[in-house]
Amino acid sequence: MKLRTYVFGVLGGGALATSAATVSSPDGRLVLTTSLSPEGSPLYSVNYDGKAILLDSPLGFISNVGDFSKDLTLLKEKTGTVEKSYTQTKIKKSHIDWTANTLTEEYNAGNGLKMSIEWQVGNNDLAFRYIIPVENKTRSMIIEKEVSGFRFPDFTTTFLTPQSDAMIGWKRTKPSYEEFYKADAPLSEASQYGHGFTFPALFHIGENEWALLTETGVDGYFCGSRLSDNNNGVFQIEYPMPEENNGNGSASPAISLPGKTPWRTITIGSTLKPIVETTIPWNLVEPLYEADYEVNPGRGTWSWIIWQDNSMNYDDQIKYIDFAADMGYEHVLVDAWWDKNIGKEGLEKLAEYASSKGVNLLLWYSSSGWWNDIEQSPTNIMSRPIPRKAEMKWLESIGVKGIKVDFFGGDKQETMRLYEDILSDANDHGISVIFHGCTMPRGWERMYPNYVGSEAVLASENLVFGQDFCDMEDFNATLHPFIRNAAGVMEYGGTVLNKRLNRGNDGGTTRRTTDAFQLATSILFQNPVQNFALAPNNLTDAPADAIDFMKNVPTTWDDTVFIEGYPGKYIVLARKATNGKWYIAGVSADKNPLKLTLDLPMLAKGQEVKLYAEDGKTPLAAKTLKIKDPGKVQLTLTKRDGFVIVAE
Ligand code: CA
Repeated sequence: MKLRTYVFGVLGGGALATSAATVSSPDGRLVLTTSLSPEGSPLYSVNYDGKAILLDSPLGFISNVGDFSKDLTLLKEKTGTVEKSYTQTKIKKSHIDWTANTLTEEYNAGNGLKMSIEWQVGNNDLAFRYIIPVENKTRSMIIEKEVSGFRFPDFTTTFLTPQSDAMIGWKRTKPSYEEFYKADAPLSEASQYGHGFTFPALFHIGENEWALLTETGVDGYFCGSRLSDNNNGVFQIEYPMPEENNGNGSASPAISLPGKTPWRTITIGSTLKPIVETTIPWNLVEPLYEADYEVNPGRGTWSWIIWQDNSMNYDDQIKYIDFAADMGYEHVLVDAWWDKNIGKEGLEKLAEYASSKGVNLLLWYSSSGWWNDIEQSPTNIMSRPIPRKAEMKWLESIGVKGIKVDFFGGDKQETMRLYEDILSDANDHGISVIFHGCTMPRGWERMYPNYVGSEAVLASENLVFGQDFCDMEDFNATLHPFIRNAAGVMEYGGTVLNKRLNRGNDGGTTRRTTDAFQLATSILFQNPVQNFALAPNNLTDAPADAIDFMKNVPTTWDDTVFIEGYPGKYIVLARKATNGKWYIAGVSADKNPLKLTLDLPMLAKGQEVKLYAEDGKTPLAAKTLKIKDPGKVQLTLTKRDGFVIVAE
């Protein structure tokens, strides 16, 4: 039942605020308090189990129509509830129930200007957005600056990844959400580039409390936002940098009125469980259109990841189609340069061959454009509606079911519109879309039915590019389920069974992690389409049980349950596949061996399960494990090692 207190009057405890409303979550543990400062600036604070998570934090924005951040007076307050159930095939759970208490506060900003702040407060998630009516006769608005912010207690530590400079890096493709995370950094630590941090952002408040910040509901009519550096204790919402997209397009979002800003979300728990399991990015959005065809999740593989550019030829692609067919996979991703080295006619033949083997082709495109120096082709198709629409028609005619579009120009509203345009045109032709070199998804799994994944992470390609990344693969893997992949699907392109990351499996960078670690990442990293970094030689040089596992690995899930872990150290989670089997996977980056007694309520006493693990001496093998203690499994996990338990 709902527990709601709703208070007007002076805030206690000597606070500066002049009035306050309080809304609790349905279970009463999460409490939002809103207030107005003596200057008429809206503020909010958040408690969980009586502990302060966010101290008085600023709200409001400054627009070209008026200032909605100060001199406000409260006009109206309205409370209510939201109850919603929906299904999804692309995220960590398939059936989701969302219940929240709501608060909408309408403010007068003077001169006939009004603005409302709308809140939803669920058991472990809360979210807010601004609702802007027609202002006098003004029906459009540019939001110049948002003052919305997050003030954590000063003993909080952070798990953040910086926003990079714009127009730097390889072929001037940044920013692309491909920066490193720092674990447990002090709250005051400045960002690497001085541009703050990208979403999602994880905060550890004291001993037990955690908060994950992100945003959702960003469509083609708003920009993507990020967090500023810690500015006098506040991480503020910031809009894109003017230099993004080669300086083209406004950094300030423009909206038509009446209008709304995207939801900014805060997920809070006294353990990491609500963080890993949250569905808040999808609870607050609705599908923007219907897909009247079946969107294909599934497994694929791709030659580019290990064999690189030289493999972009007809014969090598045939080898990968045969390999995918041998694995029983649904897809082969044909990456950059196919237009030059295979050609459209060759591609049509390839698509026909793939179809005869029961395999779909996914085709790579550059998004560019005038926002980088990418020469990897095809270029200048996805950026322009006339060639893009013609291309989609051709793709449909040859039976291509999906595309991967790479190298976007940043988070400006103009770029968000390009993402939406590509998705919308692709949908008209039954084509699913993966984005790489891109922003993170913001509710897109639900908003766009044919959207099937984004990179927005330092992904598997970095294992090929540098030994440093191989050396820290374990550390990075233990972050993603808590941060990036908690807030959206993540097309990582991983699970490497080569020991060496080159075509001969005899040169290039060296993998440091075990085969069991690699299998575990196929479960830990969640995306409805998984393009695994396997190679045809793995059919003979990888352990037979590893290949057998990879042949049967699912990519769609009914449920995800956090078991235990700590970001940067280790992670164990359980996922229930849509085929009914439970997959329990873990990896470690901890320098000390971890003796774990896992609490696995999904396993019954006497049940026989399969354990995929290594003993450090012999190759990975599956063995049968009989559950003795109901719901308990004991195992030791060492650095760079992992395991998977499969339970029928
Ligand atoms: Ca990339």
